Amino acid sequence: MQQPIMTDERFLSKPSEPATTDDLHVAVDLADTLAAHADSCVGMAANMIGVGKRIIVFSDETTGRNTVMFNPRIVERSGEYETEEGCLSLTGMRPTVRYERITVTCQTRRFREVTATFDGFTAQIIQHEIDHCNGILI
Ligand SMILES: [Zn+2]
Repeated sequence: MQQPIMTDERFLSKPSEPATTDDLHVAVDLADTLAAHADSCVGMAANMIGVGKRIIVFSDETTGRNTVMFNPRIVERSGEYETEEGCLSLTGMRPTVRYERITVTCQTRRFREVTATFDGFTAQIIQHEIDHCNGILI
């Protein structure tokens, strides 16, 4: 179910806790909320709907689908560049540093561990959402 967007920067600045199989419903809410904001938003982290768990959902440019990741972490990155980003929880555009190519290890909906490499815009979204899990705002 769609949830309201958290904008409290104090809450958003706290690192999230590891997600477990008890949090599968959070991923459903997160995907529903992203779908409701599809015109203005390409990814979300669970703390953006007020749940301090390490779960992200993002629109994958290559598949055109929304992908959910539990406990994602970047294990490799290359190609540093500077850019500007916006965020549904914040106002305006802000400068940030990203990497062109990243390798991410995470768990799927079935809590199977997978590792995958992303580049370009999809990689940028994932980096923004993993930052949210770590309490980092642009
Ligand atoms: Zn954001």
